[in-house]
Parts: sequence; structure tokens; C-alpha cells
Amino acid sequence: SQEDLICAGCGAAIQTDDQTQAGYTPPSALEREVVICQRCFRLKHYNEVQDVPLEDTDFTNKLHELGKRKALVVKIVDVFDFEGSWIPGFQRYVGSNDVLLLVNKIDLLPKSVNENKLKDWVRREAKEQGLKVRDVLLISAEKKRSVEESASKIDALRGGKDVYITGCTNVGKSTFINVLIQQFGGDEEQLITTSYFPGTTLDMIDIPLDDGSKLYDTPGIINNKQMAHFVNNKELKQMTPAKEIKPRVYQLNEQQSLFIAGLARLDFTKGAPNSFVAFFANDLLIHRTKLEKADDLYAAQAGDMLAPPSKETLQHMPEFVAHSFHIKQEKIDVVISGLGWITVVEPGADITVYAPKGAGVSIREAII
Ligand code: GDP
Repeated sequence: SQEDLICAGCGAAIQTDDQTQAGYTPPSALEREVVICQRCFRLKHYNEVQDVPLEDTDFTNKLHELGKRKALVVKIVDVFDFEGSWIPGFQRYVGSNDVLLLVNKIDLLPKSVNENKLKDWVRREAKEQGLKVRDVLLISAEKKRSVEESASKIDALRGGKDVYITGCTNVGKSTFINVLIQQFGGDEEQLITTSYFPGTTLDMIDIPLDDGSKLYDTPGIINNKQMAHFVNNKELKQMTPAKEIKPRVYQLNEQQSLFIAGLARLDFTKGAPNSFVAFFANDLLIHRTKLEKADDLYAAQAGDMLAPPSKETLQHMPEFVAHSFHIKQEKIDVVISGLGWITVVEPGADITVYAPKGAGVSIREAII
């Protein structure tokens, strides 16, 4: 019956009553062999997104089930938005279960990245965040890098237990699971919807494993700090790197500024001449100017030369707020959640970052 149906794209319970709610499907579409909801249908065929309301409590309730069951928990994070995709307090949900940490989208980092160093960095970060991990793997679900290694690691660690794949929206959970299904049997029609937009995976999907256990795709947690919430689909594509990031190096004197298109701005307020290495989508404009001219330039050019965002998006985008840092150590990354980061190479710099209110801005030891 209809009550038992779940969408093959996002896992939401199928319903035909309310177009504004998750799982809505026109009655005519129920005849199909594989039912997907209207939202997933549109995403898949037209790359259109319909907003459906989702309560945070639904997510946390689902996550709390993790700790009650005996299972292997696979947590996926996005290397491009590590902080934004982390899920604070995750250990609470996991209980005594083992955690395997998969760091996805590794294809976006320059080839020169030292993977062992990066793994050590991730381990330290996990420890600092109070998460005990059995292992860390650097993967690219999209490029199918280390997916097989992940599968064998999952199999070795799960010891016959069920597996939960967890992570924030947009970290590549669906892509990863689809690759697993493709490589280890499964049905083309079951492919889970992937999209640029946060909030695609709505509910638990279970995929049978050969020994009768199950692989669960848990709902993605929407991270409100992601810049993605402020821009439209086209702009999100412009600011999301699609391939290996080419670092762009700027030698700056104090009192100079960098605009990251019209989405953020970094002021080097005080310090000896310094190198700033920018890691953003390759086509995203980075514009250098004098600090004293930066306000006027933004007022005149935001939405024009300094785009994205477009003028239209700008009307809805939260206004810039300032985040100031004194950089004491060498090689510190200044991270703008979901947009990218800038490595400040030498110690002893005062900087101020402007980003839309609500976007996460933080510093960390450089990952590269
Ligand atoms: P989910 O919300 O966690 O299920 O994430 P999706 O699987 O829908 O992926 C979100 C976005 O990230 C999509 O645009 C994917 O194409 C992209 N993506 C997923 N895996 C990778 C990867 O390994 N590398 C890169 N560069 N992009 C990825």
C-alpha cells in the first residue's frame, strides 16, 4: 500500500496529499515500477529544487537511533568544507559503536597534497572534537578513488553488523552509496538522487548486504553555516569547485584587501609583507585592492564585477559581518565555510574577514 512506499531517491515516505511536504508524489506516478517523489523527480530530470520543510529534531531523533543499535557508523565529511560538514557532538549519537571516517572530495585538493600529513591532521581534529575513530580514509566518491578500499574497510570493521552511512548534506553520501551499489551489484533504477543542493537525502534508506545485514543511509543534517543557503543554484555551481583547485598566491602588504568575488573579503590590516594562498573554485574571481578603497569598490561593484552573487541574490544575502584574527603561527588557514580558504604563510598578521552573517569563518592549522 501507499503507506509502505518510500521514495527511491531520498527515502521520504511517499504521500499524495500535500504538495508542500516531503515525499509528495502525484497519484499518477504511483503506477511506476520505481516510485520517486516529485522533488527527486524534478531534481533528477530538471535539476530543479523544491524546498520542503525539515525539522532539526527529525534528524537528531534519527541520529539517536545510531547509539541504540549495534552497528558500524561510517561518517563522511567534505574535505573542501571540513568544519562545515563536521556535525558537532557526533560522539553522543554514536554510543559505543565504532566509527570509520571517510574524508570525501579529495580530488579537489592539489595533487601536491601530502596525504599522510592530511590524515594525521584529520585524526588530531577528530580527537579534539571528541570523536573516537577506528580509521580515516581519504576518498573521492565521484572519481571512485579509494571506494573499494572503503568497502573492504567497512566489511572488516563491521563484523557482521549493520552499517550506517552518515554525514551532513552535500558531503557526497549519495554519490558514495551509488558507487558502492554500482560496484557491488544493485539496480540502476535505485540510484539515489545527488544534487548540488543541501537537504537532498531525507530519510533512512536501507540497502541489503549479502549476509542479511543492512546498509543504512541516514538523513543528511543541514548545516546552516554553509554559504550554499544564501545563493541560487547557478551561483552555487560557480562557487563550488568542480575539479582540482589551483592555489592562487598573492604577495600582500598591510592595508591591502582581497575580494572573493562578491561573497567575502579579506583585509590584511597589519603585519610585514606576507604571502596569501587562496583555495577557491578556479573560476571564482579574486580581486586585489587597497583596503582604503575596498568599501567603495564593494558598494559600486557588488553584483557586477564582484559576482557572484548577482544583484538579485544580493538583495536577500545577509550583510557582511567582520571576523578578526591575529595570526601567531606560520601557515594558518582562514576558512570560509563552503566557499574555500586562504593560507596565511608567515606569522604575525592581523586580518579581518567579511562574510555574510551566518557563514562560518574560522582558522586552523594549514591542511596543505
Ligand atoms: P549528499 O547530500 O551527502 O548525499 O551528497 P551528494 O552525493 O548529493 O553530493 C553532493 C555534491 O557533491 C554533488 O554535486 C556531487 O556531485 C558532489 N560530490 C560528491 N562526491 C564528490 C567527490 O568525490 N568529489 C567532488 N569533487 N564532488 C563530489
